[in-house]
Amino acid sequence: MATRILRVPHVVIVGGGFGGLWAARALRRAPVTVTVVDRRNHHIFQPLLYQVATATLSPADIASPIRQVLRRQGSTEVRMAEVADVDVERKEVVFADGDRMEYDYLVLATGATHAYFGHPEWEPLAPGLKSLEDATEIRRRFLLAFEAAEQEEDPEERRALLTFVVIGGGPTGVEMAGAMAETARRSIARDFRHIDPSHARILLLEGGPSLLAAYPEPLSRYASEALQLRGVEVRTGSIVTDVQPDHVRVGDEIVRTRNVVWAAGVTASPLGKRLGAPTDRVGRVQILSDLSIPGHPEVFVIGDLANLDGDDGKPLPGVAQVAMQMGRRAASNIVASIEGGARTAFRYKDKGSMAVMGRRAAVLHMGRVKMSGVLAWWGWLLIHIFFLVGFRNRISVFTQWAWSYVTWQRGARLITGEVGAELAPPGKPLGTPDTHQSRSGQDADAAERQGQTAPADAEATGWMGGDRHQASAGR
Ligand SMILES: Cc1cc2nc3c(=O)[nH]c(=O)nc-3n(C[C@H](O)[C@H](O)[C@H](O)COP(=O)(O)OP(=O)(O)OC[C@H]3O[C@@H](n4cnc5c(N)ncnc54)[C@H](O)[C@@H]3O)c2cc1C
Repeated sequence: MATRILRVPHVVIVGGGFGGLWAARALRRAPVTVTVVDRRNHHIFQPLLYQVATATLSPADIASPIRQVLRRQGSTEVRMAEVADVDVERKEVVFADGDRMEYDYLVLATGATHAYFGHPEWEPLAPGLKSLEDATEIRRRFLLAFEAAEQEEDPEERRALLTFVVIGGGPTGVEMAGAMAETARRSIARDFRHIDPSHARILLLEGGPSLLAAYPEPLSRYASEALQLRGVEVRTGSIVTDVQPDHVRVGDEIVRTRNVVWAAGVTASPLGKRLGAPTDRVGRVQILSDLSIPGHPEVFVIGDLANLDGDDGKPLPGVAQVAMQMGRRAASNIVASIEGGARTAFRYKDKGSMAVMGRRAAVLHMGRVKMSGVLAWWGWLLIHIFFLVGFRNRISVFTQWAWSYVTWQRGARLITGEVGAELAPPGKPLGTPDTHQSRSGQDADAAERQGQTAPADAEATGWMGGDRHQASAGR
């Protein structure tokens, strides 16, 4: 009698972020082999990136090697590579070096990236926060500004060096501005001899009428007041129309600054457009309720790259909880297909949203619960520790926070990378060496991702824009 050899289905997961990693973990006992592909070797806990950018945490505290996270899953391989295309007809992913890999099921979870509202030239002047390289670059510019100001004799120039502009009043902008203010006013206040860092001007510019637009009004108001109490100048209804090396333009006003952070918008990973499935105006793939794309039940798209309406008829927000829950559902639907069962439609369980303004000040919105102040802050701390990937990271972050709480010190005040002969050569971003070096790890799709957004849509996609954000509570 002939023996029938059944091939074990191969699941390729592209992206080791919240969506991809949670899908891979959910497949650990499934009758499949899994390959997780990511252009980076690590998973990043993005909610704490701003703490790397403001020198509280080190990059390694919030990142975990994907290989290490999945080391106990014998059926799972990890491949560090850039995926350039997907051939849905041949069921292959195409790598940037031309190599190909076959799949039986594909989970595409390549997330989102910055959008500069059609102004790619702003990117080197106003870095956004998405990767560890972004965070260390922002940290470098932030700390360098104080060093440059310490040596600057012209009061006007010194003032410009000590003016920090954060563009975008969503959770990332709010958290960045709050942490910058606390660093300047408390952590480094006594470390300089010729300047007073506590006089630094931190300006948070939001185009809409309020900060944290996705939150109920009392919480938005609390966030604004808490930031102002910490010395942040909050300006709503302020649309930035130009960013230059030495100023930003807001309407008719020119704000002299050498230090701008972009937290105003994101747009979907360009890979979404390679599937041939319908996408929305920011490149998110319109998926079916089982998380697959029309005509290809073997292709799943999840997380920030996916566009699916929630129970309220609005697209689900680009937050970690959505990505993780989608990752698990994609995995269970793959198993259902293999075992001949029925797939289950995805339903998002909203576990609430949180944002932090600084020490002992946060907001929490969970169903009917609206909380602000110290209790919300404690909730924020515990939830972020709980959901950090990796035991070592939890211990390390907890220790850093405790140390920082007691001493106000920032444990990672390192200016890394080469600094030019002058700290801030005219016409260049702060601290740029004479031979401009592109930031390492910048996405190969940088050119492609520029200019593909309209402001309103870019804001709608995700975490930074802040108009539909449900943050991390309960992750
Ligand atoms: C600064 C910041 C703060 C945030 N704070 C919060 C918060 O407090 N709470 C909350 O709920 N959400 C927060 N978010 C949003 C949350 O992080 C995202 O919703 C979530 O990460 C989406 O998961 P994902 O798996 O879709 O994408 P990601 O987590 O972004 O993962 C995408 C992965 O795909 C990889 N990749 C991309 N393109 C390719 C390619 N071509 N080839 C190979 N690999 C590729 C990337 O390297 C990355 O590892 C924040 C986001 C940012 C940027």
